[in-house]
Amino acid sequence: MALEIGKICKLDEVVINRIAAGEVVQRPCNAIKELVENSIDAGSDSITVSVDDGGLKMLQITDTGHGIRKEDLVIVCERFTTSKLKTFSDLRSINTHGFRGEALASISHVSFVTIQTKTVYDKCAWAAHYKDGKLHPKKPGTSADPKPCAGNTGTTITAEDLFYNMGTRKRAMNGRDEFNKVAHVITCYAVHNTGIAFSLKKSGDNMPKIRTTSKASKIDTISNLYGPALGKELIEFSCDDKNFAFKSSGLLTNANYSGKSFRFLLFINNRLVESSSAKKAFEAVYSSVLPKNSYPFVYLSIEIDPQNIDVNVHPTKNEVHFLHEDEIIAGIQAKAQQTLYKCSTSRNYYTQARLPGFDMAAAVEEVKGTKKVREETENTRVYDHELVRTDCNQTKLDLFIANQANKIMSEKTSELNTTPTTSLFTTLDSEKPGPSSKKMKLPNPGTANSSRASTSSDNKENIDTINVEEFIPKEAPKSVNNPTHRRPIYLTSVLALQEEICKARHEGAVDLLREHKFVGVANTQYALAQVRTKLYLFDIGKLSEALFYQKAIFDFQNFDIFDFSEPSPMHELIMIALDDESSSWNPDHGPKEELATFATDLLVSRREMLDDYFSIMVTKEGSLSGLPLLVDQYYPLLHQIPMFLLRLATEVDWDSEKGCFQTIAQEIAKLYAMRPIEQESDNSATQSTQNKMSDPNIPDWKFTVEHILFPQLKSFFVPDQSVTASGAILQVADLHDLYKVFERC
Ligand code: ADP
Ligand code: MG
Repeated sequence: MALEIGKICKLDEVVINRIAAGEVVQRPCNAIKELVENSIDAGSDSITVSVDDGGLKMLQITDTGHGIRKEDLVIVCERFTTSKLKTFSDLRSINTHGFRGEALASISHVSFVTIQTKTVYDKCAWAAHYKDGKLHPKKPGTSADPKPCAGNTGTTITAEDLFYNMGTRKRAMNGRDEFNKVAHVITCYAVHNTGIAFSLKKSGDNMPKIRTTSKASKIDTISNLYGPALGKELIEFSCDDKNFAFKSSGLLTNANYSGKSFRFLLFINNRLVESSSAKKAFEAVYSSVLPKNSYPFVYLSIEIDPQNIDVNVHPTKNEVHFLHEDEIIAGIQAKAQQTLYKCSTSRNYYTQARLPGFDMAAAVEEVKGTKKVREETENTRVYDHELVRTDCNQTKLDLFIANQANKIMSEKTSELNTTPTTSLFTTLDSEKPGPSSKKMKLPNPGTANSSRASTSSDNKENIDTINVEEFIPKEAPKSVNNPTHRRPIYLTSVLALQEEICKARHEGAVDLLREHKFVGVANTQYALAQVRTKLYLFDIGKLSEALFYQKAIFDFQNFDIFDFSEPSPMHELIMIALDDESSSWNPDHGPKEELATFATDLLVSRREMLDDYFSIMVTKEGSLSGLPLLVDQYYPLLHQIPMFLLRLATEVDWDSEKGCFQTIAQEIAKLYAMRPIEQESDNSATQSTQNKMSDPNIPDWKFTVEHILFPQLKSFFVPDQSVTASGAILQVADLHDLYKVFERC
């Protein structure tokens, strides 16, 4: 059979360009990155991005940069047209993001591009449409020339119907994933470029998903984008070396922070890049500091002499290599290790006495000493009285009280380990849900005594009798919604309240909480926890109230919601509260009916604010339809809702913004706190359920303390002086002292 030999032909230019474009713009986030870099190169101080279907339908970027000259509009989308490079030797000193003149051309080969731009010298803006690198008429038969239009100085570039001519690629993508990738790019550039305000929104949404200001510092921007829990654990880092001609600076989380995935933001010469060797170096640094499966946040910017870096790489080649790579990374790694080490050895321990007569100064020295011994001499002998239980699963209190509860507890623990939980701070690159509505079927609180109390997820059946154990759900809700981002907070009052909490932080107590190992629930008021050689009593009520206050302030505007299956009339609920002795109502206050109407009207009039800021959902008709979900799988006791509503109307400072937010947060904290419940003689249904809840022999209650409350205290809570001063943490035993006693025996 004759062998057919193909004839070699030169490819058509459009085909060449489309192949090249397909490599440069592989997904919407590549296009966004190129466009953002152009806007930064143009000297913008504000960059606004809007996308439809993750950028696949439309992506648009508006900047306040210097604009494009009208006469350049003819060639701006052609391949290799740039204003940033003239001769090859310019490459040696290039300090702009772009230089190859390929990005706009590529985008115009895979989408329909519109550019609207105005320089300061133009009297009006000019708009032009492009296809395949060339000017293209908006409607067939009309002129393709740029048209004058109204507009501000700067540029807006819109790309529509991305990959309209590459069907397979388009079908392989979905808008949600693409949006997350776009958000990641904007987040990284926002962190790196202080002085530029960034915003990203989905077209059609009123609120942007990301918004940063040009005045915010890097730490503020990171706190805004990744949450204050991360922001407050950042440490600054810098390192340079003349021999290898590089400078680097960055922000790293300290050992107190542990995330679910490694967030590594790396910029080399101001370009967002990936470097597996740099990433591995930081993984190694943190592997000795963080527990297994905990990860840090690292933002690192490296500036390398352009002569030492091969800048002429393909625009999407994110993974970079540079001269002296190994030495530079090793230098940065060593400095990062040193910085982390310094910050962890300068922590303070125990600066506050926890029991009257307890010698704090001696304790501080002693603990420092113990720590030093442990750190410095691995091979020195550790005496028995210094042996510390390090695995929190070892011998808990429950093992000494063998009963059925333990069995249930261990079953529940394994259940919990297999059910997904949501993170406290949903983050931009996480696929996890952000603040959103979590539809939970809760009973009408007004009928809680007679009807069922179910907190199970939607697919669970109704049960007729009340069972308070069900207030604590046995499984994570099945459907957790998935929007992604925290709403940034701009209210100075709330930022001030957050700052107050951070400023009052008591380092000794922070360490104590971070390092504790849960031992067991002692009674309705206290749980026992061990910190190194000491045993402490933690006041469950006080600590949980303080924790939930901080949650209410830090998650402001960002709560998940649990909806009641049926809204409950607030008037009736408030009447229940007024009938309760603890409301201290007396006839001088006026008729209960009137008071209840007044309180209901007040809450209805504030419903928008309550809903938007705190996810307290009040209907126009005066019913309560939902409450914030402060911690996943944790719900307030329904019988406390009437008093919560009454106090919300009467105790909140409705006159000043800051006071108002603070007092609402305090009331929320009171509602959610795990209070010991007094035994009353009355034998009502509610009473029996309360007893159940407060009875430490009930596994659900213990389970909540151990697996929900204490992990929150460990990872989130920022204790202050008052926590230690109020006796919320009390030292009860110290192994050293016990040894002295035993030695005498
Ligand atoms: P490069 O950035 O490599 O030069 P691009 O295709 O990204 O190539 O852009 C081509 C040219 O268009 C740039 O050199 C710049 O002069 C101009 N340009 C692109 N975007 C903007 C913008 N947002 N503002 C001002 N000029 C821009
Ligand atoms: Mg460019």
